[in-house]
Amino acid sequence: MAKQSGGNVDTVMQETRLFPPPQEFAARAKIGSVAAYEKMWREAAGDIESFWGQLAGELHWFRPFERVLDWQEPDAKWFVGGQTNASYNCLDAHLDSWRANKAALIWEGEPGDTRTFTYQQLHYEVCRFANVLKKLGVTQGDVVSIYMPLVPELTIAMLACARLGAVHSVIFGGFSAEAIADRNNDAGAKVQLTADYGWRRGAELQLKKNVDDALKKSPTVKHCVVLKRTGNPVHMESGRDHWWHDLIAEASSNCPAVPLDSEAPLFILYTSGSTGKPKGIKHTTAGYNLYVKKTFEWVFDYRDEDVFWCTADIGWVTGHSYVVYGPLSAGATVLMYEGAPNWPDEGRFWELIEKYRVNIFYTAPTAIRAFIKWGDHWVDKRDLSSLRLLGTVGEGINPEAWMWYHRKIGRERCPIVDTWWQTETGGIMMSPLPGAIATKPGSCTKPLPGIMPAIVDSAGQPVPQGQGGWLVMTKPWPGMLRGIWGDQERYREQYWTKVPHNYLAGDNARCDADGYYWIMGRIDDVLNVAGHRLSTIEIESALVSHPRVAEAAAVGRPDEIKGEAVAVFVTLKNGEPDEALRKELKAHVRKEIGALAQPDDIRFTGALPKTRSGKIMRRLLKDIASGKTTIGDTTTLEDYSVLAKLRSDEE
Ligand code: ATP
Ligand code: MG
Repeated sequence: MAKQSGGNVDTVMQETRLFPPPQEFAARAKIGSVAAYEKMWREAAGDIESFWGQLAGELHWFRPFERVLDWQEPDAKWFVGGQTNASYNCLDAHLDSWRANKAALIWEGEPGDTRTFTYQQLHYEVCRFANVLKKLGVTQGDVVSIYMPLVPELTIAMLACARLGAVHSVIFGGFSAEAIADRNNDAGAKVQLTADYGWRRGAELQLKKNVDDALKKSPTVKHCVVLKRTGNPVHMESGRDHWWHDLIAEASSNCPAVPLDSEAPLFILYTSGSTGKPKGIKHTTAGYNLYVKKTFEWVFDYRDEDVFWCTADIGWVTGHSYVVYGPLSAGATVLMYEGAPNWPDEGRFWELIEKYRVNIFYTAPTAIRAFIKWGDHWVDKRDLSSLRLLGTVGEGINPEAWMWYHRKIGRERCPIVDTWWQTETGGIMMSPLPGAIATKPGSCTKPLPGIMPAIVDSAGQPVPQGQGGWLVMTKPWPGMLRGIWGDQERYREQYWTKVPHNYLAGDNARCDADGYYWIMGRIDDVLNVAGHRLSTIEIESALVSHPRVAEAAAVGRPDEIKGEAVAVFVTLKNGEPDEALRKELKAHVRKEIGALAQPDDIRFTGALPKTRSGKIMRRLLKDIASGKTTIGDTTTLEDYSVLAKLRSDEE
C-alpha cells in the first residue's frame, strides 16, 4: 500500500522494451560502451572538481582560473579567478584551424530563402554588430533585450552581446507586448533588438508593432535596432529606433572579445511558465559555456562532418544551449529553420532533412505528436537516410510516440536520446549516451558524467528503489543557474530549502532496477486518488497507446470519496468521438495500467492548452476539470481560444 503523503509517487507503468545502441553506431561513438560511460561517471563522482577542472582546458582562457569551484550553498562560483569569453569560444577559437571555412550556420527562411555562414563569416558579422552595440552605449553588464524571428541575426546579436560582456535577454517572438514589457522591466533592459516582421505560416508577425507597444511601458530601454526581414512598412520612432542595416554599414569589423570573469552574467532567460509566472533565470559565462559544449559533444556524439538540427526556437533554453552556445563552441554545423513545420505543408521538416542531409535531429514531443497526427505519408515520401541520431526535449515522451519516432523517422537505425533538463540546469542533465546506453521508450535513462541525481521523499530521505519521489541533484554542476534575476531569496526558497543541501528540480521521477530514470511529471501535478499518488505521464501514456489517441493530459479534480478523481483531456488523431470510444478508452487504461488509474471523466477536445514552447499546461486543465471559474496566470498560454473553447464546453 502506498504512502499517502510526502514526495512519494506510485508507479503503474510497465515498459520493458529495450533498444541497445546499434553496433555500427557504438563502434564509431566517442563513448562507445556502458563500461566507458560508467568509468567516466564514477571518476567524475569521485572528484567533481578535478573532472570539470580538466575539461575546462577546452575553453580559451585569457587568464587561467585559480580554483574550480567555490560552493557557498546555494551560490556557486565555477572556475574562480579565470577570464574567458563565450563569443570567443564560439568563433575566434575556430579561426586558426581548418574550421574557419566550415559552415557554422546554414539557415533557411520560411519562404525558402537560404543563407550560409562559415565560422569566419559569422565572426565578421558578430564583430560588426558588437561595434554597433558599443556605439549605442552598451557596455559590460548592460542588458540587451532581443525579440526577433529565428534568423541568423538573432545568433549574431547574442554572440555580439557575449563579446562585450552585455547580458542578453531573448524573448520568444510569439510573446505579446505586455510580456515583453514585463521582461524588459524585470531585467532593466537598455537596448531592444527586433525586426520589422517575422514569417509564420505565410503571414507576417508584427514584431515591431509589439515592440512599439512594449516600449511605451519599458522606460529603461533607450534604443531600438530594427532588422528588415519582410520589408513592409513599420513605424520608426526618431531618435530611438535605428535600422540594423544602416548601423552595420558603418561598423568596423575589428572588435576583440572582452576578457570576462568566469562568473560574469551571460544571459537571462525566462522559463516556459508551465507552472506559473516565468522566472528570469540567470546563467554566467564559463561554467555554462563548458557545460553546453561538453553535453553537446557527449549526448549528440557530434562529429565534424555532421549537420545538426535542433528545431527549438532560440527564445527557449534549448535554442540557447543547442542552437547557439553548445554547437558553436564545439565547432559544429548548425541548421536553423525560421518557420512553422506545417508550411507550406506538413512535410516541411522532412524536406529540410532531405535537402540538407541532416544527420542529427533534435525536437520536442509536442512536434512528434503533431507529426503522428498529420500522417505518415508526409514522412514516407522523403529520403531520411542521412539521419543517424534523434533526440527529444521539453516534455516526457509517451512510449508509443517514441516508438513511432524510432520506426518512422529513425527507420529503426537511429538511437533516440530523450534528454531531461531545465532552463535552470543550463544543459542536458540526464540522457542516454547514444553509443553506450541502451534506451527504454519513455526513460531519459542515466545521469551524464558529473551529474548526481537522487530521488527523495519530502523529508529528504531517499525513496526505495523503483518508487517515485522528488528528483534532486546532490551536487552542483557548472551549467547550473546562478539565481533568479533580481530575486536571490526566491532562488534559495524555490530550489534549495525544501530538501536541504540539494537542488530541487520540481519534477517527480523514479529509478528502476537498472538505474534508469523515468520522469513522472511535475510535483504540483501529482494526482491523489484513493490514497495513491499517481503520475500524469503514466496515465497519459496509457491513453496515447490507444491507436486513435493523438494527445492526452491527465489532471486530478476534487472528489468526495476518492480525494481526487482522474480527469483526462484527449485529442484524437482523426474521426469524431462517441460514447463507445469513451468506454473503450476507460477500459484501455484499466487494462494497461490498472483500475486505480482509470479515468473518471474523459473530455474530447480539438487541442490542448500549451505554453508557447509547446508544453501541455495541466494546471489550466485542472482548473477546468474542477469547475473553477477564475483561472490562474495565462500569459504564457500559446492560444487562448483553446482554453476559451474548453471553458465554454463546460457551460
Ligand atoms: P516553469 O518552470 O516556468 O513552470 P517549465 O518548467 O516548463 O516552466 P522549462 O525550463 O522550459 O520551463 O522546462 C523544464 C521542464 O520540462 C522540466 O522540469 C520537466 O518538467 C520538463 N521536461 C523537459 N525535458 C523533459 C524530458 N526529457 N522528460 C520529461 N520532462 C521533461
Ligand atoms: Mg520549470
